[in-house]
Amino acid sequence: MQHFSIWSLLRNAVSYHEGWQRQWRSPQPRSEYDAVIVGGGGHGLATAYYLAKEHGMRRIAVLERGYLGGGNTARNTTIVRSNYLWDESTQLYEKAMKLWEGLSQDINYNVMFSQRGVMNLGHTLQDMRDIERRVGANRLNGVDAEVLSPAQIKAIVPFINLQTRYPVLGASWQPRAGVARHDAVAWGFARAADARGVDIIQNCEVTGIRRENGAVVGLETAQGFIKTPKVALVAAGHSSVLAAMADIRLPIESHPLQALVSEPLKPIFPTVVMSNAIHAYISQSDKGDLVIGAGIDQYSGYGQRGSYHTIEHTLQAIVEMFPIFSRVRMNRQWGGIVDVSPDACPIISRTPVKGLYINCGWGTGGFKATPGSGWVMAHTVATDQPHALNAAFALDRFYSGHLIDEHGAAAVAH
Ligand SMILES: Cc1cc2nc3c(=O)[nH]c(=O)nc-3n(C[C@H](O)[C@H](O)[C@H](O)COP(=O)(O)OP(=O)(O)OC[C@H]3O[C@@H](n4cnc5c(N)ncnc54)[C@H](O)[C@@H]3O)c2cc1C
Repeated sequence: MQHFSIWSLLRNAVSYHEGWQRQWRSPQPRSEYDAVIVGGGGHGLATAYYLAKEHGMRRIAVLERGYLGGGNTARNTTIVRSNYLWDESTQLYEKAMKLWEGLSQDINYNVMFSQRGVMNLGHTLQDMRDIERRVGANRLNGVDAEVLSPAQIKAIVPFINLQTRYPVLGASWQPRAGVARHDAVAWGFARAADARGVDIIQNCEVTGIRRENGAVVGLETAQGFIKTPKVALVAAGHSSVLAAMADIRLPIESHPLQALVSEPLKPIFPTVVMSNAIHAYISQSDKGDLVIGAGIDQYSGYGQRGSYHTIEHTLQAIVEMFPIFSRVRMNRQWGGIVDVSPDACPIISRTPVKGLYINCGWGTGGFKATPGSGWVMAHTVATDQPHALNAAFALDRFYSGHLIDEHGAAAVAH
């Protein structure tokens, strides 16, 4: 694999940058693999990478019905944090955070991980009590977390208006949290997985899951039948559709979630500010766009659009909190289909079908988990056992009632 470094940049500069290799191959699917991952988003590609890297598996394919990262991975607003409430989720997201901290070096691809801090605003006394409880729980789990006063918030974002219709009383603050470049994450994992022999096959929709005697034997795809004893479904908003092909009914609802970006501005916004109460959050990309997100559209569906009133409500909140942005023009708006579980936590699990594994339910907040999700999913697929970090995220918690209720820490999510 071509190594990215200052030297390779200089070498290619003198040859007019015409010598760069393709980042990954486009192979024809083989007739048989040891494991197949359905879904070429960040989580599926990370699963393939760690299967090859940590578990030495080589005959692996990732099947993507469209193009790499064309799902939620490249539609999300890229907030990365690990300050959830419950031990199970904090430890899982913190594993991901530690992987993020070395990811660009590990996969030799700049994912532009920027630890600029994330702030969750509190607007009521109850918000502040919840924040104090969560910050305390985070610290017990070794996660960096602080409670900020209004004056400390102003010191970080001087132009924020704290006297809105919902006055800001304080915030939680995770200094190690931040943002990363979403498509670089998909491309970086794809390139690193490909270099370890993983076949990445785009334009290859999975249309059926063939089983014999209660075990997976292969997949029907747009490019023919592929034999395999292990299938990992990592398809976010389309997870229920895929699981239904194996007669599994998931406790997942698929909803549109919207985001929008402004025209580019000079660097002005130094961190990420989120408000669960008014359903809005904002950061600034390295290109200069303000990146703004909303709460989910309440209806279920697969159209990657969303409705105008959700955006209008979000922009009202943003302008109220940041009046200096009132005349900034918005450039683009889009939606992705998020897979929402009843307790706002993922499902990373074996299924009742032998050899069939599922990774879904990340809802509005799975980008931050991408490396950690792939890491534990690879362990689960390779060993046929969950890792200690994802054991609590099994499908059977919806029968046993051992839910991990993260709605408080993940309401507007991300
Ligand atoms: C607007 C928006 C903002 C968000 N903001 C944040 C945020 O700030 N922070 C955060 O942590 N998370 C955020 N999220 C959530 C995050 O994007 C997702 O949880 C995460 O990206 C899911 O990754 P994935 O790889 O599982 O899914 P995806 O990237 O959606 O990948 C799934 C892939 O499966 C493919 N697929 C589906 N069906 C089939 C089939 N039959 N055959 C083959 N392939 C198939 C799809 O084409 C898709 O490419 C946001 C989501 C949206 C939509």
